Amino acid sequence: MKTLENVLDYDYDGLRKRLEREKIEPYRVTQIFDWIYKKKASSFAVMTNLSKKLRERLSQRFELKFPELVTTVQSKDGTMKFLWKYDDESTVESVLLRYSDRMSACVSSQVGCALGCEFCATGKSGFVRDLTSGEILSQILGMEKFAKVRIGNVVFMGMGEPMLNYDEVMRAIHVMVNPKALKISQRRISISTAGVVEGIKKLATEPLDVVLSVSLHAPNDEKRSQIMPINRKYPLSALLNAVREYQSIKNRRVTFEYILFEGFNDSIEDALELVEILKGIKCNVNLISYNETGSKFKRTPSDKAKHFEEFLKSHGLEAVIRVEKGSDIDAACGQLRRRML
Ligand code: SAH
Ligand code: SF4
Repeated sequence: MKTLENVLDYDYDGLRKRLEREKIEPYRVTQIFDWIYKKKASSFAVMTNLSKKLRERLSQRFELKFPELVTTVQSKDGTMKFLWKYDDESTVESVLLRYSDRMSACVSSQVGCALGCEFCATGKSGFVRDLTSGEILSQILGMEKFAKVRIGNVVFMGMGEPMLNYDEVMRAIHVMVNPKALKISQRRISISTAGVVEGIKKLATEPLDVVLSVSLHAPNDEKRSQIMPINRKYPLSALLNAVREYQSIKNRRVTFEYILFEGFNDSIEDALELVEILKGIKCNVNLISYNETGSKFKRTPSDKAKHFEEFLKSHGLEAVIRVEKGSDIDAACGQLRRRML
């Protein structure tokens, strides 16, 4: 039997070209996209403005492939965590975050992660494989369908390192921002990277205006290498140069994520070092509470975190302590995959 192609793996132009080869008119792509991304269709059968014959032809080559929803859990604050299973039994998690004015999705880009950061549950679970763009998009479609909401924000902060699955992540983003598909504003999509320099440089050349978020977590190489092995490949000087280069092309503010670990990177000397290395970069610093994942670290007490924040602010940096969501269901950053639901 011929294996069917997942239609969700195509972006608009890709599907247009692919259908051309099947001698199917290009305008059909608009109709198919409308059914999938706006009307949330789950099969060709329901696409009633396509002739029965065309639907049959499509079904012989393609399918709309959605992962199985294994389970969901809801947190006290309204955050929902979803566990998805793909055909090969791989599982990933996504999180739906509820804010007063919008719904935000935290999606996974890989099954596991190869970068092995000391503090991260995903990193500890190792790398299995990349997700395809359709597998990324189906997390969003699946959450929209299940929770009956429209997602207006997407952050690549679930499992995996998006810059190490660059092409699939980009294709998924093209579908997210396409007005004929999910129509999410570009500036409402964030790519978070542990510091893959080539990825940052490549992103700078894309005709796309997404938010770049860099996981920094330490103010010098010595400390950063202790908790993020990738720092040995791309030390801070290379990373920050890439960010400067990105900024000189995009002229956009960059976000730095900084998890506060008690007694490791949360002193005033650390804060001062951070101020020094970020000089000249237009940025926001997001201070994150460490979520327990069984590492040797402890979270910084809130008064000390506040002190750190104030220090950064008084030295001219835009800094905020990020509001925590979903920690009671292990849906907070870095906790994904810690507990099989
Ligand atoms: N691989 C990418 C994106 C996924 S991780 C990256 O590392 O940026 C998303 C965010 O969660 C990153 O900023 C990561 O450092 C953070 N994170 C990982 N483990 C965490 C933990 N235990 N507590 C708080 N944040 C964590
Ligand atoms: Fe991978 Fe990001 Fe976790 Fe590091 S923090 S192990 S890069 S998912």
